[in-house]
Formats: sequence, structure tokens, C-alpha cells
Amino acid sequence: METYEKETKLYKALMHPVRLAILDLLRGGEQCVCHMEAVFGYRQAYISQQLMVLKEAGLVEVRRDGLNIYYRVIRPEIFGVMDAMRALTGTQPALPAKTNVCTCPNCADELIQL
Ligand SMILES: [Zn+2]
Repeated sequence: METYEKETKLYKALMHPVRLAILDLLRGGEQCVCHMEAVFGYRQAYISQQLMVLKEAGLVEVRRDGLNIYYRVIRPEIFGVMDAMRALTGTQPALPAKTNVCTCPNCADELIQL
């Protein structure tokens, strides 16, 4: 049963709507936590809690740059699992449009235009 327990552990890391959404957001590359806050509209503590589960599962890695904390997916095979699941559910990635202001370097240019 050890094999199945190992697999179950990883499935459990996926078993949360916010964690699936975070992984979808990270498909495009690393994102800072402030960016995730702006996109999802949740408090940083809540997002960090979900990121911690993904990190403990070995799916994401953290990088600090000054005040910004970035996460990226280090096991892109997980996207294949999510895509296989979507073939079963008939769903599509459904990230919310970013409506909150984000000051991460990736969005800084956008901010100047405002
Ligand atoms: Zn941003």
C-alpha cells in the first residue's frame, strides 16, 4: 500500500480549488505572492497557507527577492495530471481577471500606464 499512499499524498495536495487555481496561474511562470493576492482577492496568510501545501508536496519552490516572494512550479508534470482531470470533468482553466492593484515588478509597467 506504500505506493498508493505516496500517490494519495500528492493527490491530496491538489484537492483544493485555490491550489488548483494557483497552479494554473503558475503555468505561465513564477509569480509573487502579492500578485496572487491581487488576482484571487484573498489575504496573504490564506494564500501562503495553500502555497505551503504545494511546497511540502514538492510541486513548487520559493524565491525571495527583496520584499517580494516568488513561487514557481518545479514539477510541470503536474499540469499533465490537471489536464487529464479536465478531460474527465470537461472544465477549462478559469482564472479570475485581476481587478486589484498589484505592485510586483511584473505588474509595475502596468501600474505606470494607469
Ligand atoms: Zn503582480
